[in-house]
This record gives sequence, structure tokens and C-alpha cells, in this order.
Amino acid sequence: MSARLLIISFIVTVLGFSGVCGSIMLEMRRSAQELSRQTQENLASTISADINRNVELYDLSLRAVVSGLALPELAQVDAKIRNLILFDRSVSAKHFGPMRVFDTKGDLWLDSATLTPDKINRSDEAFFRAHVAQPDLGLYISGPTQHRGIYSVVLSRRVSAPDGSFAGVVAGSIRFSYFQDLFNRLHLAPHDVIAVLARDGTLIMRTPFEPGLLGSNVMANIGIGKMLGQRRGWFSGHGKTDKIARMYVWADSARPLMVLVGRSWSDVFMMWRHEALRIGAILLVLAIIVAGFTVFFIREINRRAEAERRLEELATTDGLTGLTNRRKFDLVMDREWRRAVRSKTPIALMIIDADHFKSFNDSFGHQAGDQVLVGIALCIADSAARASDCAARFGGEEFAVLLPGMNATQSQGVAETIRRKVELWSEGQAGVTVSVGVASMTPVPLQHWSVLFEAADKALYAAKDLGRNRCVVAASRSDLNLVA
Ligand code: GH3
Ligand code: MG
Ligand code: MG
Repeated sequence: MSARLLIISFIVTVLGFSGVCGSIMLEMRRSAQELSRQTQENLASTISADINRNVELYDLSLRAVVSGLALPELAQVDAKIRNLILFDRSVSAKHFGPMRVFDTKGDLWLDSATLTPDKINRSDEAFFRAHVAQPDLGLYISGPTQHRGIYSVVLSRRVSAPDGSFAGVVAGSIRFSYFQDLFNRLHLAPHDVIAVLARDGTLIMRTPFEPGLLGSNVMANIGIGKMLGQRRGWFSGHGKTDKIARMYVWADSARPLMVLVGRSWSDVFMMWRHEALRIGAILLVLAIIVAGFTVFFIREINRRAEAERRLEELATTDGLTGLTNRRKFDLVMDREWRRAVRSKTPIALMIIDADHFKSFNDSFGHQAGDQVLVGIALCIADSAARASDCAARFGGEEFAVLLPGMNATQSQGVAETIRRKVELWSEGQAGVTVSVGVASMTPVPLQHWSVLFEAADKALYAAKDLGRNRCVVAASRSDLNLVA
């Protein structure tokens, strides 16, 4: 019982601890994800602010050119003054390309970098065709283009004549060296990805730099809708080329260029994984220690229970014959007597005594006498073998057998069997016989079992008196008259 309790408490303890640790680890995992999301969002927000401020500045310069071109005075000044009026100095900043104005046919008309523009035509370019097709396009950011080995992104605006008709396009570019400078200032993990996207999901720029991906729609599988719908958010996706699973976070999707910061899930959970492994290992060690203690205590409990059982056996068993001893017999007698009172069923008792045993001892020695006593005990145990039967050695060469539920006739049958068995067994061994006194009665409340004892004893005396080697049954009424 205690061993089972110990095992149950061990299982409950281990399950309890595992449950608590599991929930703590899940909470830590959630926190790790939330922390990474916040960090990525802050990074995306900072990068987005920088990029879009520059786009805005450049757009202001484009707007200045568009409104400057509408000035009628422009036709009266020479080329140098005109360039000074149209193009402010920000255009010549480090990562910005020259700003150029193309006429209605796409021919280069004005160039911020020179007073004598080259003869080039851009009517085939996407930005030019876009402005021709859509008068209200506003700022148009084209996909990444490569010109003389330099990657850049072209920003353009339509130039309108006073009557609103198409008068050309003003275009400039932001070189990729700007993005590279920006990204180089950051400390990124090996699997981190930063992507700059146009509002249709086209990849403008990316670190690590992968020219093959530039200009492709990296949001084709996921859909740009979610990003445009929520100013900030995240999704889980796989890298197009490296197939690494990442958490992609964006911070401000209302701007012309959107920034996605991707971090591999294994990096997101790296610290957490270490911590979880550490806690898991500690828990395992603790569980092993507790299991060790539990096994030790269970063994100890079983060992003690076995020792107690042996002690009990020793205390209740007769050493020579292995039958129940007097002490234990009295307890069984008491229990069965009360049961018989309750159930109003008969209970039989027989007292068996070896005949002329003293002379047997005198003739063959005490040791031979002991052997005979063991033989008699075997005959008795063999004949009274029901689970409820109780055969005991009473001391000396006297035995008692309790037969619950048996009436006088039935118990006389058993007594006779025992007597016959002893007789048969001892033939050829100096012929030891036994006399048996049998009594059976249905006890009534407040009656003590000594009544039954006295009756059986009397019957035994009667058997001795009648010449030994016989069974005598006492009547099972309250007066217990002898019937034979
Ligand atoms: P009966 O009962 O037939 O009247 O004669 P008896 O000789 O058996 O009578 P009694 O009860 O006077 O003698 C009992 C004898 O049993 C005395 C003793 O020698 C012997 N005895 C008692 N206990 C033991 C024992 O443990 N071992 C052996 N070998 N003999 C015992
Ligand atoms: Mg005797
Ligand atoms: Mg005797």
C-alpha cells in the first residue's frame, strides 16, 4: 500500500514539476518570440524612416523641378541660371544620381549634372511609359535597374504643361550604395534578412545582396494585402533561395517603400532553446534522483514488510510441525466463533491426542517422537485443507482443528479420515494412533467458545476412556451431551 502510494506520489511530483516547467518554458518561448518581434519591428521602423525620409527629400527636389519648369521666366535665362533654379544642391548628395528632365518624346532635355546633356532617349523605360499612361501617377518608384554596373532605383514625376497636357518626365535615382551603407552600419545575425519592397511587393533591395531576386515579387506567395492592411505586423515564411524559415516583421507599411526584417526562427529561439535544454536537463536529473530515492524506499518498505511477514509467521507457526500455534489458533477461533454467531452457522472443533505417546518416546526416543508428531501434523493438514479450516499444534502431542460451517456428522467424517490416515501412515512405524474428540454447535450471542472447547475435550477423554484410536462426537446442543 505504502509502495503504491510512493509510486503515485513520485508520478504526481514528476508530472507536477514537468507541468510547471513546461508552462514556464512555453511562457519563456512566447516572450522570446515577442522580444524578437519587437526588436525586428524597431529595426524595420528605423530603417524605413531613414529610407523614406531620403525618398521624401528626393521627391521634394523632383517637385521643385516640376514647379520650376512651370515658371515663364525660365525661358528668358541662360542654361546655367536655369539649372541653378531647377536643381537644388541636395541632388548632388553622395548616393543620389543626376536629376534629368525628358521631353514629351522621351529625349533628354535637361540634366542637373551638365549644361550640355547627352542625346539619349528614355521613351522605352517603364517610368516614362507609366507617366504617359497615367497622368495622376504622382511619385513613381521603378524597380531596381542596373546602369553601367551600378544598381539604382529610379524616382520620377510627370511634368505637365499649363493646360495640364503631358510635357515630359523628371527622373532621378537613388543608388544602391545608399542601402549598402545603411545596412553595413547594422549588426545582423548570419541568417537575418532585410528587404526593401515597393508597394506591389517587388523587391527593391535586400541584404544579404542577391541580384537574382531583385525586381521579383517576393510577396507573390504570401500576398501583399496583409502588409498593406496593417501598419505593423509579422508573418512566418521561407526564404526564396535558402529555404530558411523566418519571422518577417514590418513596421510602417504606409510609406512609399516598405521594409521587412526577417530573422530565422532558430535564431529567434536560440537563447530560449539553451535555457529550455538547461531546465530540461536539471528536471531530468531531479527526476532521476527522486526515482532513485523512490526505488530505494520501495525496496526498504518491501524488505520491512517481508521481515514483518516472516516474524508474524514465526510468531504464529509451530516450529516443529509448521502448523498454526496456540496463540494464533485462539485468535482464529475467536474470529470464526463471532462469524458463526452472526451467520448462525455451525462451527466444529476437534482435539486430537496421540495415544500412549509417552511410552513411544520411552521406547524410540524423543527425536523419533518428533518425527511422528510431524507425520501426524501432515495427516491433519491434508484432511482439513479448506481455506477456512485451521489446524494447530496445541503443545505436546496434542492438536486442534477448527472446521467452520461443519455440523457434527461432517466433522466426524473429517475426524475419522484423520484417524485413519494416521493409522495407515504409522503402520510399520510402531503403530502410533490418535484419539479425537469432536464437538460442533451453532453458537448463540453471548456464548463463549470455551463451551465448544470443553465439549471437544470431554469427547477426547471419552475416546481415551473407550480404548483410544477412535473418534467421539459431543452433541452440539447447549448441554452438549455425549452421543457416543
Ligand atoms: P495418552 O495420551 O494416550 O493417555 O498417553 P500419553 O502417554 O500420550 O499421555 P501423556 O499426555 O501423559 O504424555 C504425553 C507425552 O508426550 C509426554 C511426552 O513424553 C510426550 N511429549 C510431549 N511433548 C512432546 C514433544 O514435543 N516431542 C516428543 N517427542 N514428545 C513429546
Ligand atoms: Mg496428551
Ligand atoms: Mg497422549
